Amino acid sequence: MKYMQNSNLKFRSFDEVLRTYLKRQEEEGKEKRDNNWWFASELGTCLRKQFLRRLGVNPVQKEFRIAFLAEQGKVIHDRMEAIAKQAGILVNSEYTLTNEQYRYKGRFDLLVNLGNGTDPYLSLIDIKTQRPEAFFRRAKLPEGQRVAAFQKKQLASYFYFARMIWPTIRDARIYYLDRGGGVREEYLFKFGKEAFKEVLDELETLNKYWQEKKLPPCSNSFVCRNFCKPLKKELLKVESGEISLEEFLKNHGQENKK
Ligand code: SF4
Repeated sequence: MKYMQNSNLKFRSFDEVLRTYLKRQEEEGKEKRDNNWWFASELGTCLRKQFLRRLGVNPVQKEFRIAFLAEQGKVIHDRMEAIAKQAGILVNSEYTLTNEQYRYKGRFDLLVNLGNGTDPYLSLIDIKTQRPEAFFRRAKLPEGQRVAAFQKKQLASYFYFARMIWPTIRDARIYYLDRGGGVREEYLFKFGKEAFKEVLDELETLNKYWQEKKLPPCSNSFVCRNFCKPLKKELLKVESGEISLEEFLKNHGQENKK
């Protein structure tokens, strides 16, 4: 990008305005964010990654492109919420669910009533916007694999904990939106005991590692995006007992010291 060489300007380009805004948002978000939970959006991903994130270890700098996509996603979410409201079906939105016992925190997108006045039908909706390539790569997978296991787990956790507040929720849905071409797909789930057990088992496992101050193993998960790669050597030392977890944390800035 070519910048104008004029020192009187506050911003040299519009892109700089956007980047400044997103950077500030990220900094403010970091300050406000209470990391001391297991987040629904991370369930089903690498246990070690979840553990390190809760400790405030974050070796990967977020790319500007990702921050921009998140911003774009927010706009779409807000529109979906407005549309549900206008249709008179919105029960709740962007609701934060927490559970102290499991140290669980999750925020679902929409709770809507798809039924009529005499027969309400509560459905929980998770909106996932995707790049066209990602949307069509996923949509071409064999049936049964088109919703990633970790996304299903995330949804099951919303369903489980939201039903403690709204016991009449009947189903949970993932609504995929192709950002590029406007194609949509909707998957409906009626989770049962087995799905809830998987969610609670994972939370229990995480809590066990946490209480024992023990680093969970690497799960070689494809969704990790090499999160801990920059710290590989040090993590190997923790694993082998050469250094303690506390020593490791001293050198790798904790955002959250609770
Ligand atoms: S490299 Fe292994 S431990 Fe690190 S985030 Fe990925 S799966 Fe987890």
